[in-house]
Parts: sequence; structure tokens; C-alpha cells
Amino acid sequence: MQTVVTDAPEEAAGFLNHAGIVAFPTETVYGLGADVFLPEAVSRIFTAKGRPSDNPLIVHVQTPEQIGEVACDIDRNAAALIERFFPGPLTVVLRKRAQVPEIVSAGLPTVGVRCPSHPVASAFLRHCEHPVAAPSANLSGRPSPTDWRTVYHDLGGRIDCLLRGEPSTIGLESTIVDCSVDPPRLLRSGAVSLESLLDVVPGLKIATSCKPGDAPKSPGMKYRHYSPEALIVLLETAQAPPEPVTPSAWIGLSAPPPGMERTLRCSSVEEYARVLFGFFRTCDASGILTIYCELPAERGIGRAIRDRLQKASGK
Ligand code: AMP
Ligand code: MG
Repeated sequence: MQTVVTDAPEEAAGFLNHAGIVAFPTETVYGLGADVFLPEAVSRIFTAKGRPSDNPLIVHVQTPEQIGEVACDIDRNAAALIERFFPGPLTVVLRKRAQVPEIVSAGLPTVGVRCPSHPVASAFLRHCEHPVAAPSANLSGRPSPTDWRTVYHDLGGRIDCLLRGEPSTIGLESTIVDCSVDPPRLLRSGAVSLESLLDVVPGLKIATSCKPGDAPKSPGMKYRHYSPEALIVLLETAQAPPEPVTPSAWIGLSAPPPGMERTLRCSSVEEYARVLFGFFRTCDASGILTIYCELPAERGIGRAIRDRLQKASGK
């Protein structure tokens, strides 16, 4: 299959409106979308990514008003979160409308909904006839792509179109809050921090990770995620790395230790989030065997970075 690479949101939406699958930029990471109401197109997303069929997709809407096309029973908490954080890097899980195909929600009675704030994503969604079901645009199990070249590397020849944009400004996947339960539960951390969610919904709880064998509330939680080929070793601040399996690399906020082949010192947690997945990919491409990652403090987007690092390290 030939993948058309374009800068024009309208052209990309044309592919999607004709049952194609299209990668597009968002502020979190690049997504791979299909029309939410075309189950055969949605099933091609799972094939292109090699994604397990029990891992649901997030539905992207252009405006908060469009949420009603895919979800219902928006209670007071959900309405407050939508009011405060849409458009932006927050996904809310709501009761699904019957017309949303099972394949989108992986059989769950709920659906995750997000409204991206990215101008190119927004223009693309405006030209799409319906909401767009989209997971991250990477091969399953690999780090999410934060620039179009990485999308092309993973999915070129497997998707109909790639809408090219600037690198994602956040660099980590959206925060997910399950609003189908009361009180709502944080399922995945992201750029919308726990602290800012608690400002809006003081009773919000943090979900414990799912137990094996359960029908998990957030199925994505059970898969190894965000993983480079290299071994990930987590370090607390100022902890000296143990004898490395070389060549090795280091990423963090402090001054890097000596003896590393490749280092990346970030000037803020926001920069750490933005560059992390790209760094994993660069390390893999240059044959790094061990990546030491300094754990940031567990507040703000630091909580999301820690979560991704822990998953990447297999914990
Ligand atoms: P991705 O966009 O690749 O990060 O994948 C979407 C993730 O959103 C999935 O792996 C799930 O963890 C989560 N998700 C999507 N829909 C639901 C839902 N209805 N309930 C709980 N989690 C969901
Ligand atoms: Mg993903």
C-alpha cells in the first residue's frame, strides 16, 4: 500500500471519510485514526499496529458538543472536567452510545473521548464527517511517536495517509479519567496533572492497576508499553548507575554521570516529557544497550513520566 504524506488536513480527512486510516499530529502524540462508525476501517488500525483487539481506542471529537454522538450519561463530575480541560490532553471515559461499534471500545460498555487542542488535529477533525477513533500511531509495544518521521518509520506502507505536522509539544499520551463511575478514577497520568484534576473533582480516586484475568477497566494498562529495545534502568536523583552494560545512555534533569555514550539533560520536566520517547528511539537506532533514566519528582507531569518509565522498564 502506498502511504500518501500530506500537509493538508482536508486531503487527509478525505482518506478517512472514504474508509481509510490516517495518522495525524496532536499535542500529546501522533494518532492513527479511522471513522468511528466504520468498523471495517477501525479494524484496519488494529492490523496496521499489530494491536491486541481487547485494547480499546480513544474517540477524538472536534468540539465538546460532539461528545453526545458517541457517549451519554455525562454526570456533574464529567461535565466539570470537560468544561475545564477540553480541548486539551485529557480523555474522559463515559458510557458508550449503542451506535459506537464494539471494536472501538473492545467490547466495553464505555468509550474514551478526547478533544485535541492541536490546531492541525482540530482542522483535520473539522473536515472529518464523524468523530475519529484513534490510538497512538506506533507499532504496538513501541514508544508512541512524537514526530511524523517516526510514524512513517513504523507505519509507512501500512496506512493510507500521514498528515504531517510539527513534533508533539507534550510528548506523552493523554491523562485518562474514568467518569463512568462515581467518584471518577484516574486510569492513566498525563499532562493534565492529578493536582489539577483534584482542583476540579476533589473526590477523584487513583485506580489500582488491573488484576490478571479481570476484564480490566483500562485494558491498555496490562500491556508492556512504551518500550525501547534497550534495557531501561531507573535511578533516583543522584543515585550512581551500577556497572552498565555498554554502550549505555542516560536521560534526566541532573548532570549526567560520566562514561555514557549518549546523554540528554533536560531543563524542565516538560522538556523531559517532550523528548523521552524520541530519546528511546534514537538510542535504539544507535545500538545503545542500557538506558539509565532519572526519576523526576512525583508531581505535575513528573507523575506521568514516572509511570511511562516504570512501564518501559517492565514494572
Ligand atoms: P493509546 O491511544 O494507544 O494510548 O490507547 C488508548 C488507551 O486508552 C487504551 O490502551 C486504554 O488504556 C485507554 N482506553 C480507551 N478506551 C477506554 C475505555 N473505554 N475504558 C478504559 N480505558 C480506555
Ligand atoms: Mg498507544
